[in-house]
Amino acid sequence: MARQRRRDTAPEIRLRAVMHAVGLRYLVDRQPDPALRWRADVVFTRARVAVFVDGCFWHGCDEHGSVPKGNRSWWARKLELNMARDVVVGQELGSRGWTVVRVWEHEDPHAATAQIQGLIERSRLAAQRPIAAHAGSGSPTTKTSLG
Ligand SMILES: [Zn+2]
Repeated sequence: MARQRRRDTAPEIRLRAVMHAVGLRYLVDRQPDPALRWRADVVFTRARVAVFVDGCFWHGCDEHGSVPKGNRSWWARKLELNMARDVVVGQELGSRGWTVVRVWEHEDPHAATAQIQGLIERSRLAAQRPIAAHAGSGSPTTKTSLG
């Protein structure tokens, strides 16, 4: 199967530049989970956030997606499979504790960065919380001192 997703597309580079400018640090074109063969365009390992930058044509954007007229049914099938795979990737990663962010190539990279920053911040705060809220003294025993 031909792999039409290339790394370092213009929308990816734009998004990475904005994320880098606000201080986010990430891995590029990595498998979020070694058990899954899919690579994400950008991976935040600690926060477990995987970012995919989707081309409007290949991923069937509602606004800019279209099926080429020549060989129409072949294209329709191919694009359908792409979209079905996007769903599966999201489900598989989600079930392994990853947050999947899909960014359309037409999206404003600043807005996408703000969204991603929010997710990372949330994960950071969650990690700071005491691991076991109920650890320690156990249930406070009500000792009635009968005297
Ligand atoms: Zn689009």
